[in-house]
Amino acid sequence: MKGLVIDMEDCIFCKIAGGIIPSASVYEDDDFKAILDIAPAAKGHVLILPKKHCADLIEIDPDVASKALFVASKIAAAQKKALKADGINLLQNSGEAAGQTIFHFHMHLIPRYENDNLTIPGENLSYAEGEAEEYAAKIRSCI
Ligand code: 5GP
Ligand code: ZN
Repeated sequence: MKGLVIDMEDCIFCKIAGGIIPSASVYEDDDFKAILDIAPAAKGHVLILPKKHCADLIEIDPDVASKALFVASKIAAAQKKALKADGINLLQNSGEAAGQTIFHFHMHLIPRYENDNLTIPGENLSYAEGEAEEYAAKIRSCI
């Protein structure tokens, strides 16, 4: 909804980007935080969150939008190296009809492997205790 002001009290990704809710973080700078998705399409699935709230691709600040792809490129390279991925899907859902469930803009980076037979959207995986932090540390070490 254009003009709707959502602050950290209402938005889970504002709280994660602001460090109020913990996450398995792979990258952070002044404008973005990148974390592991809690229900990944593949292990090492990353979400890139701008720190400044906006709902979707239509509402994003042009300055944030232009920086987001640089961050995505950097993290995708680290995922390929750290996880020996063969490819990466970059996905952005804008609007409920497009599959968006959290209305704070984010980009998905999903590691892909030859013949992984993954369908997106599809089944979600989960991490065992401590496993997400191991994946996050591996990716961080390659950025
Ligand atoms: P969307 O469907 O809006 O494009 O993607 C939202 C994503 O956020 C989903 O893939 C979902 O698994 C992930 N997600 C939802 N809640 C949380 C959370 O509390 N922490 C993390 N790390 N990911 C979340
Ligand atoms: Zn938000």
